[in-house]
Amino acid sequence: MSTQKFETLAIKTQTERSQFNEHSTPLHLTSSFVFDDAEQMRAMFSDEVEGNIYSRFSNPTTTEFIDKVALMEGAEAGWATATGMAAVFTTIASLLQSGDHVVSCRSVFGSSHVLFTKIFPKWNINHTYVDANQQDDWEAAIQENTKILFVETPSNPGIDIIDLEHLGKLAKKHGILLVVDNCFATSYIQKPIDFGAHIVVHSATKYMDGQGRVLGGVILGSKAIIEEVKAFARHSGPSLSPFNAWILSKSLETLALRIDRHSDNALKLAQFLENHPSVEAVKYPFLPSHPHYDIARKQMKQGGGILSFIIKGGIEAGKRFLNAVELASLTANLGDSRTIVTHPASTTHARLTEEERLEVGIKQGLIRVSVGLEHIDDIIQDIDRALEKSTEK
Ligand SMILES: *Cc1c(COP(=O)(O)O)cnc(C)c1O
Repeated sequence: MSTQKFETLAIKTQTERSQFNEHSTPLHLTSSFVFDDAEQMRAMFSDEVEGNIYSRFSNPTTTEFIDKVALMEGAEAGWATATGMAAVFTTIASLLQSGDHVVSCRSVFGSSHVLFTKIFPKWNINHTYVDANQQDDWEAAIQENTKILFVETPSNPGIDIIDLEHLGKLAKKHGILLVVDNCFATSYIQKPIDFGAHIVVHSATKYMDGQGRVLGGVILGSKAIIEEVKAFARHSGPSLSPFNAWILSKSLETLALRIDRHSDNALKLAQFLENHPSVEAVKYPFLPSHPHYDIARKQMKQGGGILSFIIKGGIEAGKRFLNAVELASLTANLGDSRTIVTHPASTTHARLTEEERLEVGIKQGLIRVSVGLEHIDDIIQDIDRALEKSTEK
């Protein structure tokens, strides 16, 4: 493994230059590759010789992105997918079979919840959920047929922190795989592999791109695990497009810089909100008031760019808040250079009953903020003005 630091690994090109000696990462926009002769074609198809055959299997620009992310995450190997959900789906579908069982944290990304509750059960792959505040329940939930512990930390939208060291030890003890969705923290802030994770998945759509342009995902792990993933993915076809891989590779070059600023702005906004009269509570991993603050300090280098707070006045105040922000966007994304606010109870989770929402940690007045890279004074001013407008009588 390289001894170079994260920022350097994120910038250095991992593949050889082409005959044109380009300085920046080149883009190889081609669906297939030409063989010199029939013998080379035969050798490549029978895996005797490594090389690019067809871009669903591999492409130099995609490989460049994968190799970079693997170095940044401290993983042996990786595979890139068209979306973050393709990464989650491909991981589980390639490693599990009918009769297997997953133990997952309850507050998972919405589409991961649909996979666990509606899609995998069709193939007799079932799950048990564990609450973030009941971390002792993980071991009790492990069954004889459990193959994977699946965890998202910090979680969405609850911003709960789950103890990776604890789960790493449990996975080892029971001989099962620990899979971590590391999208919120990024590998700059949190390295699940250091705590015993076998597989890390990311939605590259979020902080890796960081500018709201492309979708992408990545799966990282040991060579042996990634070979299994590849054997499934090469033929089921969730591959990342080379164009998106190129955008993402270029974005990685500024990931550390951006995350430093996202975390800085988010901490300042969290501190401001803690003292705001219209706010009931604030949740941010690096605020000492966070219920899992000690775990956050143990496994995260910074608090990251996402926080949540409870606006006083419940669902109506939440709606008014969304309508009152001017600088922040209302959009279904996060990890963007632009500040984004969402109010799950009236939007993404409006179809659930209040009770169902509480079960996944969504109170009526919960607002999630993906704190952007605008100047912190302007972000605070926008949120402050919107709070005043939405909670006035
Ligand atoms: C967005 C997100 C995903 C899904 O990623 P897509 O690129 O939208 O498919 C998965 N997990 C988490 C935590 C996310 O925020």
